[in-house]
Amino acid sequence: MRIGCPTEIKNHEYRVGLTPESTRELVAHGHEVWIESGAGNGIGADDAEYRQAGAVIKDGPEAIFAECEMIVKVKEPQAQERARLHEGQVLYTYLHLAPDAPQTADLVKSGVTAIAYETVTGPNGSLPLLKPMSQVAGRMSIQAGATALEKAHGGRGVLLGGVPGVLPGKVLVIGGGVVGFNAAQMAVGLGADTTILDRDPAVLERVGIHFESRAKTRFSNKANLEDAVCEADLVIGAVLIPGAAAPKLVTREMLKCMQPGAVLVDVAIDQGGCFETSRPTTHAEPTYVIDDVVHYCVANMPGAVARTSTYALNNVTLPHALQIAELGWKEAMRRDPHLAEGLNVHAGQVTYKAVADELGYEY
Ligand code: NAD
Repeated sequence: MRIGCPTEIKNHEYRVGLTPESTRELVAHGHEVWIESGAGNGIGADDAEYRQAGAVIKDGPEAIFAECEMIVKVKEPQAQERARLHEGQVLYTYLHLAPDAPQTADLVKSGVTAIAYETVTGPNGSLPLLKPMSQVAGRMSIQAGATALEKAHGGRGVLLGGVPGVLPGKVLVIGGGVVGFNAAQMAVGLGADTTILDRDPAVLERVGIHFESRAKTRFSNKANLEDAVCEADLVIGAVLIPGAAAPKLVTREMLKCMQPGAVLVDVAIDQGGCFETSRPTTHAEPTYVIDDVVHYCVANMPGAVARTSTYALNNVTLPHALQIAELGWKEAMRRDPHLAEGLNVHAGQVTYKAVADELGYEY
């Protein structure tokens, strides 16, 4: 199969659909890979590296969209990319169609077969192609919070790990899922005094067994939440209620009991945020202060570590890309029902029920 990977054109997107290593793997399986010149610049992979991996380098995206049977990307196609998609072509990328009527309409019109990373499933209803980005955001949240705690960044001047003779900082992680677990790993690794709150007993048990005495767990109810928030130097918001906006667990009222210069990192901001005072920020201006509490609410945290994020994403997207290239998308989906869950649009039809229901398409 001829597989194409254009440069990402969404604002401030530095990731790329295929790494040189993934390219080499596809080429080794007998496929042809076309990479747009400069596509890997954001992760420090130049054209020479892709050439060495066996890729054909193309100037500009035109030939890639016109002649490749499968397009592998990271972000949803932008309007000018959508205009280039066509029938008989497979698009394999993050799409997030439900809140995006214009994109859905364009994909339907194009006749493309669109497979969305975010709806491909794994065992036990997991979403394995979303997981690496949650791992990245969780781990990064402690780094971001530690920086924001520094005096020069508006924080209260606390070093999370403390030093011999001085107590470590207190980290509260709300939600012990993928983001929360990874945040807790980093906090514990730094030597911070770490507490994880969740309302699911199974999650509390799993987290408790993993961290043993290195982290505390508490059931998430109003009283425990208030108590833990007031004590914390750094609070990480990592809750998710699937298919719903994040609950506003930390109210503006609760900020009053926090220490001046304490920090809130709202990772759940992409679902509306779990602090009442959260509003989305960017990597260019990641923080703002309300009632003396520093807020960090960047909606696309993994974008800042494009290289790590790209490699983490490729680890989970490549096996399916190989299956599709090897067998064709239809046979690959017949053999793998988890991949079949990724099919969102095909031949002018919305083929994913939640998207069809949300946007009023026939299913
Ligand atoms: P997850 O489903 O693995 O974990 C969510 C956890 O929240 C679950 O354990 C659940 O029991 C818990 N929870 C739900 N309600 C709660 C409550 N009231 N109190 C305490 N815990 C509660 O989800 P995840 O992958 O960890 O993602 C968490 C959030 O991070 C999502 O909103 C996701 O979209 C977001 N995210 C953001 C970025 C970013 O760049 N900002 C990147 C990746 C993920």
